[in-house]
Amino acid sequence: MNDIRLTIVVPCYNEQEMLPETVRCLGAFLADNSDLLSPESRVLFVDDGSRDDTWKLICAAADGDERFSGIRLSHNRGHQNALWAGMEEALGKCDCLISIDADLQDDVNAMRAFLEEYRKGADVVYGVRSRRDTDSAFKRLTAEGFYKLMSLLGAETVYNHADYRLLSARALEALLSYPEVNLYLRGLVPLLGFETAKVYYERRERTAGESKYPLKKMLALAFQGATSFSVKPLSLIWKTGLLSAFVSALIGLVYLILPAEGPGFAAFSIWFVGGLILAALGLVGEYAGKIYAEVKRRPRYTVRETKNR
Ligand code: UDP
Ligand code: MG
Repeated sequence: MNDIRLTIVVPCYNEQEMLPETVRCLGAFLADNSDLLSPESRVLFVDDGSRDDTWKLICAAADGDERFSGIRLSHNRGHQNALWAGMEEALGKCDCLISIDADLQDDVNAMRAFLEEYRKGADVVYGVRSRRDTDSAFKRLTAEGFYKLMSLLGAETVYNHADYRLLSARALEALLSYPEVNLYLRGLVPLLGFETAKVYYERRERTAGESKYPLKKMLALAFQGATSFSVKPLSLIWKTGLLSAFVSALIGLVYLILPAEGPGFAAFSIWFVGGLILAALGLVGEYAGKIYAEVKRRPRYTVRETKNR
């Protein structure tokens, strides 16, 4: 039955090298899967404030073909916010939504399996990377380390799943009702519940352009994930503080009972405890900063113009 109204949301930041191929591939996907998909299925590009010709290319694709559409954010708000913008735009206009990166590193053909899982009743389908040897060793190591760290911190995330996933209309609506502005979608989606499924695929190399996720953005995302979904760092601090106070007191006691030569305990302990206090203060400050950002309720993004919507 060809009745699934699908919207594919593609966040794009400076993707001019990649876009023509992306448009071709996603268009072909819609055409090749017309046995499942309704003719009303769409590809929605979100231009995340690109400085190159990304928007022009989106408009060119949309001009002759109503299957393609775009929204353009007024400035670069980052991948998670761009995705959110696309999801809000698609809400109410589709039966299910798939988010995929513009560089098509995530195998487009896996979307067929996503749709089959959706047909079988899944509301959330996670795309999971079965191998990532096409990523650089560094990327792989940091990414996999991060998934492990997150589970250690107690935040439920799907191992080796990034933002390649399908959401049914009701899962999408549930997700969009989360008001937080410190977005970390990989942590939010598992909170939705519903029926879930996983589809495994092989991650490819980027064929054009370069990664828009330099180390700095990756670390920022990891930190966002850790501090938005876990208060363990806070409890870790006070436990460390308690432990160090206890140990210091013990050593201090030893110095008192058996007076000894040397720099004395005080010299060392002041630096040690001082460092701990600073680190603790800094971390508490991070959380306070997040509360500050949340209570301001600033919009996540601003739309500059749209095409074919
Ligand atoms: N992206 C975005 N805004 C940004 C950075 C990236 O919309 O500020 C998009 C980018 O165009 C791509 C996706 O997010 O579609 C993932 O980025 P990339 O492929 O560069 O990340 P990597 O695969 O290297 O982690
Ligand atoms: Mg990529």
